[in-house]
Amino acid sequence: MAELSPPRAAPADERRASLSAWGDDARGAFSGARDPARLEAAVVRFHRTLDATIAATVEGHGLALDCKRGCSHCCHLRVHVQPHEAFALAAWLRRHVEPERLAEIVRRLKENVARTRELGEEARKRTNIACALLASDGTCSAYEARPAQCRRYHSLRLAACEAFRTQPDESIESPLHPALAHNAAVIITQAQHAVRAAGLEAENADLNFALLEALENPKAWRRWKDGKKPFVGA
Ligand code: SF4
Repeated sequence: MAELSPPRAAPADERRASLSAWGDDARGAFSGARDPARLEAAVVRFHRTLDATIAATVEGHGLALDCKRGCSHCCHLRVHVQPHEAFALAAWLRRHVEPERLAEIVRRLKENVARTRELGEEARKRTNIACALLASDGTCSAYEARPAQCRRYHSLRLAACEAFRTQPDESIESPLHPALAHNAAVIITQAQHAVRAAGLEAENADLNFALLEALENPKAWRRWKDGKKPFVGA
């Protein structure tokens, strides 16, 4: 999920300042999110801020990540997405993906939603399911618009990713770096607060269900615009 772009230096103080400045920026960016074009622009800004924060943290801590193009262990984990990202991702897919390919993605989303329901919450945590956006060459079909959770995920230990892929087990030590996970969480949480400040719902939802609803159910968008929970009946 985290195919990271080349990092740029950012001293610790500068990094702290940009983390706190994002709160105000985010409130401004998401204040007009009921308009689809402004929502997409706000999500792009959010994702760019997150990418820059991740890159600066990687450089600041001298991290050597094990992530590389085509490695997709983490694309079999359960992914959560916030409503603003799900709607922006749906719009991106409609604009960038051929109708046949989009129909195939929708088919896989439906399959994953049915499988998730059948498994139930606990069994789902221990079951790997390939993301509906994962292409056959191990890359993401929506890399440019992938959710924040995919951007923040990274690995310092490929062996841990491989072990979790083979046998999901919460006792496997996390492959994440604490500072990187923390800084990314700050950016994501501030975006969530900004969405709520605009009177919109911002709870995490399962990517398969949220994206399917965003693509197929116009009522989901209307509910969200009215300040209600958009994805019901997961
Ligand atoms: S959205 Fe893309 S990066 Fe995220 S889990 Fe799916 S395939 Fe992987």
